Amino acid sequence: MAEITQPATVLAVTDLTPHVRQLVVKPKTSKISFQAGQWVSLKLPVGPKPPLNRAYSMADPSSPYGELTLVFDRVPHGLGSNYLYELRSGDEVSLSGPYGNFILPQPLDRELLLIGRYTGLVPMRCLLKQMFFLKIQTPILLIAVAPNEDEILFHQEWLTMAVQHPSFRYLPLVARNGESEAVEKTLAMLTPLVKEQPKVLPMLCGTKTFVRPLRAYFTEAGYDRKEVKVETYD
Ligand SMILES: Cc1cc2nc3c(=O)[nH]c(=O)nc-3n(C[C@H](O)[C@H](O)[C@H](O)COP(=O)(O)OP(=O)(O)OC[C@H]3O[C@@H](n4cnc5c(N)ncnc54)[C@H](O)[C@@H]3O)c2cc1C
Repeated sequence: MAEITQPATVLAVTDLTPHVRQLVVKPKTSKISFQAGQWVSLKLPVGPKPPLNRAYSMADPSSPYGELTLVFDRVPHGLGSNYLYELRSGDEVSLSGPYGNFILPQPLDRELLLIGRYTGLVPMRCLLKQMFFLKIQTPILLIAVAPNEDEILFHQEWLTMAVQHPSFRYLPLVARNGESEAVEKTLAMLTPLVKEQPKVLPMLCGTKTFVRPLRAYFTEAGYDRKEVKVETYD
């Protein structure tokens, strides 16, 4: 069935870091039920040929009340994200969905290795919250890459999860000099975890410059392309 485009009301606006904002929105026409890891398409009244479609992953699992938690960074000169930064509580935004296949496979028979850079961590947060809610015991390692110390997204939450769930390990990593340094540092961290170890399920999310070299690393290490799940943001 085709997903409808509908208005949604902004319920709350919260700054998570100096450059990352969270919007909680509630679709007005019909509830959007989704799987952790999926996204909605926002139709924004900006740009040369509006609407401008921009995708945002849900940061919280499906709720009985139907509200959606979206988290995004302010991209310098980015049309969509700068428009979203103007929204206030009570404003409306058009959206449709859910979409996407960045979801957990069934059955989940391998250790999960989640790697996200910056807002690429948004679907990871949703997946982890869902897994812990369902008491899934699969071992999970999260490598969370940030552009600087002030922008380590969800840091306190990951630390709390690591304390509460012995199956979950969290490795934060800061790479101040752009995505190539982020890739370099992530690969250095990955090698002892992957080389000559049983296969894991890698799930990678972020911009292409970050995600593609990591996927290439796994395929060179003997993984099939379909054994590595990716979500790219650009
Ligand atoms: C499936 C999917 C899910 C997504 N989920 C999220 C999400 O949960 N949170 C989120 O912040 N963004 C998410 N995005 C990206 C989002 O849709 C927009 O592309 C982003 O907000 C930038 O839009 P813009 O119009 O402001 O910038 P544009 O004017 O489109 O400029 C994009 C340029 O900025 C660079 N860039 C820097 N940071 C980002 C970034 N975070 N995303 C995309 N491009 C970036 C790109 O490389 C590109 O050159 C998702 C994208 C996809 C395809």
